[in-house]
Amino acid sequence: TANDSSLPAPLFKVNSANVQYTDEHILSKYSYFNTLVTKQSDGSLIATPTETAYEFKTERTVPRIGVMMVGWGGNNGSTLTASILAHKNKLTWRTKSGVHSPNYFGSVTQSSTVRLGVDTEGADVHVPLSQMLPLVNPTDMVIGGWDISGKNLAESMDRAKVLAYDLQRQVSDEMSKMVPLPSIYYPDFIAANQEDRADNLIPGNNKRAHVEQIRKDIRDFKATNGLDKVIVMWTANTERFAELIDGVNDTAENFLAAVEASHEEVAPSSIFALACIEEGAPFINGSPQNTFVPGLIQLAERHKAFIGGDDFKSGQTKMKSALVDFLVNAGIKPVAITSYNHLGNNDGKNLSSHRQFRSKEISKSTVVDDMVAANHLLYAKDEHPDHTVVIKYVPSVGDSKRALDEYECEIFMGGRQSISMYNICEDSLLASPLIIDLVIMTELMTRLEYKTAEMTKFSTFHSVLSILSYMLKAPMVTPGTPVVNALSRQRTAIENIFRAAVGLSANNEMGLEHKIW
Ligand code: NAD
Repeated sequence: TANDSSLPAPLFKVNSANVQYTDEHILSKYSYFNTLVTKQSDGSLIATPTETAYEFKTERTVPRIGVMMVGWGGNNGSTLTASILAHKNKLTWRTKSGVHSPNYFGSVTQSSTVRLGVDTEGADVHVPLSQMLPLVNPTDMVIGGWDISGKNLAESMDRAKVLAYDLQRQVSDEMSKMVPLPSIYYPDFIAANQEDRADNLIPGNNKRAHVEQIRKDIRDFKATNGLDKVIVMWTANTERFAELIDGVNDTAENFLAAVEASHEEVAPSSIFALACIEEGAPFINGSPQNTFVPGLIQLAERHKAFIGGDDFKSGQTKMKSALVDFLVNAGIKPVAITSYNHLGNNDGKNLSSHRQFRSKEISKSTVVDDMVAANHLLYAKDEHPDHTVVIKYVPSVGDSKRALDEYECEIFMGGRQSISMYNICEDSLLASPLIIDLVIMTELMTRLEYKTAEMTKFSTFHSVLSILSYMLKAPMVTPGTPVVNALSRQRTAIENIFRAAVGLSANNEMGLEHKIW
């Protein structure tokens, strides 16, 4: 057990009878205020304030963690690896615009702040989100993983054409020694145009044997690197959707039997997810396909294993989940959202195949649903804005993805407002920081427990980590609970859960102290 002196001193301590710092834990007692709304027979609503007592317990010792990426040799995998090395080795590099040093821009945990409170003069005091609770430092992560392409990470980084040459040059030696583990390739699931990459494969067609191999890889990686925990991230190609078939992937038993029988509808990503669930390693799906078939979610719940997904929310969708939230909450009615993308990296090449594009289209399509449903003054029941998503593969733009969006809105007295957006960005430089955030928040959730008055002991949160929604395009949530896509609500959830864990009330923007006599 760690004693207090061996832990880094927190940036702040909470001064409250409801909060206790022990050598091992931060313990907080917290009142969760909500409002229960019931409908009367005459249609009127009754709103009843509720208060539920929770206790939270956060382990203070930050473990030594490993991140294993499926698709390690891809653009995201190689970019993230080089970036972490640049931090570890405190590198600087030159481009035509001058000397650069590593940063974690684009990571909400590493590069954003939260308002802790106000000082005695009434001025806001902000602290880094990363200092709200003890969190893993991304620079300390040990990185590894699998890829169906056997190129070493230096070759992969070169193939990705994302980072500046002067940086690549300096990390190349170290990365040339990093070689992805062989992976699972069921050609039917990714585009046929990926076939020439597939030269690093786990042999055979026995899907149970594949699960066991992945489990062994995770155990070996943990042992070799002396790690406390491993988190696995799917950042491999987008797969086609797996067909949902009763008797195959609908229940935990059926899914296990389907794996045993090497059923053709069990996707590589589902094999990885199963291996992680059985191995107790959290698994996050950064691509859009339906890896988590219902039977797998049941299995995760049964094992109390953490899962999260789907699809990194990096560019266009992130903008959409912020902009539509703003418009609808401003009382402006988007009637059409038309999104074009073109990109020239391997992701774009894979998505040029119809069935893989279809996965992406589905993942991008539901993002405004909750915001639209929340405003019945603008939208009738079941009314939706027109929403179209087009993705084209244009090799010469490489990783520098272009997203063109038009938001057509209805405004006051029958008027129209058309907003056009043109977003150009290196895709992998937006996605890599999200991987960092997903890992860091997932790791925290393995150390954060809660208890209600009815419970005799502390428990971890539900297997499906909906707290990760901010980083994900089609957030998975606990079965039967609502999906929140609105970006500001997703961020508020992170901030307030972090606050609750240290016994601080939810942040509100009332600013009463500035508004009264
Ligand atoms: P990429 O094509 O450069 O990398 C994917 C890697 O996965 C390749 O190296 C490929 O060889 C490997 N691979 C394919 N199938 C595999 C398997 N079964 N096992 C192991 N490795 C396998 O793509 P990328 O740009 O790094 O993006 C990765 C994924 O993240 C894509 O599915 C993409 O749709 C998704 N995504 C990316 C972004 C973004 O980059 N901004 C945003 C959202 C989602």
